[in-house]
Amino acid sequence: MDTRSKANELISINPATGQEIARVAVTTPDQLDAAVARARTAFETSGWKDLMPHKRAEVLTAIAAGLLAEKEELATLQMRDNGKPIAECRGMVDYAVGTFRYYASVCETLETEVTPRRGDYVSFTVLEPYGVVAAITPWNSPIMNDAAKVAPALAAGNAVLLKPSEDSPLLAPELARIAAAAGLPDGLLQVVQGRGADIGAALVAHPGVSMISFTGGTTTGRAIGRVAGDRIVPVALELGGKSPHVVFADAEMDHAVAAVAAGIFGSSGQSCVAGSRLLVEESVYDEVVAALVARANRIVVAAPDQKGVEMGPLASFHHRDRVHAFVERARSEGGEILCGGSAPEGARYADGAYYLPTIIAGLSADALSCQEEAFGPVLVVLPFKDEAELIRMGNGTAFGLACGIWTNDFKKAWRVGRALEAGSVWINTYKQSVTSTPFGGFKNSGIGREKGVDGLRLYAQVKSMYFGL
Ligand code: NAD
Repeated sequence: MDTRSKANELISINPATGQEIARVAVTTPDQLDAAVARARTAFETSGWKDLMPHKRAEVLTAIAAGLLAEKEELATLQMRDNGKPIAECRGMVDYAVGTFRYYASVCETLETEVTPRRGDYVSFTVLEPYGVVAAITPWNSPIMNDAAKVAPALAAGNAVLLKPSEDSPLLAPELARIAAAAGLPDGLLQVVQGRGADIGAALVAHPGVSMISFTGGTTTGRAIGRVAGDRIVPVALELGGKSPHVVFADAEMDHAVAAVAAGIFGSSGQSCVAGSRLLVEESVYDEVVAALVARANRIVVAAPDQKGVEMGPLASFHHRDRVHAFVERARSEGGEILCGGSAPEGARYADGAYYLPTIIAGLSADALSCQEEAFGPVLVVLPFKDEAELIRMGNGTAFGLACGIWTNDFKKAWRVGRALEAGSVWINTYKQSVTSTPFGGFKNSGIGREKGVDGLRLYAQVKSMYFGL
């Protein structure tokens, strides 16, 4: 989806067709104040925070059912919103459903610690919600990213103000509507709309907001972190990546090549964990790169609702311009474009924000193209001589979100997996994700962990209580 924002509305454009699909009103500063006040009142008076956990779990389960009942409509809306192939969009709705179900069960079963009598007292901890959580999400996987914040924040007993990206404003209101229909008390989940620099910045600075959960780019994360630091409110940051995907000479090559291609070209590379830096052991470098280029050239780039589509358009026309500028800069840094490097030709691509799968070789590891995130279908490839060089290169960016390792030597996989600075390490697989396993970044890729039980604790503060006996 593309937006041609005006001051007071977002105009949503389908990136596959260039046609307008919706207009969304931007939240005004007065409306923001009112939404925060309403959320605070809902938090304090609706009874949600004091409900027995199994009662909160009932509502979360009903939200999951509501999402599932509208799976096809939501998937289609997201497809039109950001151009992802319909099968991926269905998968993301399933993921959102699973997230609400998971946090319903965590909510019901979460226990806190009791320290048995050590003297003339006993101590234990309780978890308390923060109050009003600001949840700010990016445009690449709206329903999934929204659910990843809203479900655990509600499970912990908070009220949530959800601000989706100005480039994907359509899914968040659907989630709020479904949550209300599922029985979530009024005011506990509200959506605020608009550009990050305006309403986003006003939201994080708002004195009524008591916790900030952000997913998006590192530059924005840093700005939000500064505000949170000044205000001394907790902040969780899920940021960008330049994840290394490593292929050793002893890997099962067919599997490795297929996974590397899927790891960067899936979702047109618009994934925070895209394996965007391929590091290949020197002795198999030519073979692996040739196989990848052959695979990339076979990828079916097509309309997101077409049968057999593997890559749809990029999410917006302005994002395609950014991706192309990234490729042009790589060229000027001495990169050799082995395939792609432009929009596909042909009438069926003329109206959409399409871009070809692109592989670039011949760069030095410290070139900007090997350091910065393209957030598009752009893979840079680099050879390595030995493990020491691999680890130096693998860790040689400011990011640390994820990595992939392909080898049949499990001791080497363990060693390298421990040595690489990344929040998620995939060995002989890539881009797998389960809600029960924590997710987050090292270094500039973020602070905090979503998913898993920790994902609920993120939205709760610990109170320690002592009872004299
Ligand atoms: P972005 O940082 O430009 O925007 C993200 C959100 O922040 C949007 O809702 C935007 O309106 C808002 N925003 C922007 N400036 C703000 C400010 N000053 N104050 C408050 N809110 C502000 O990112 P994007 O372009 O929407 O998304 C792409 C980025 O997101 C990539 O870097 C990608 O790696 C990252 N991402 C990370 C994860 C993860 O889990 N680590 C997941 C998906 C995407």
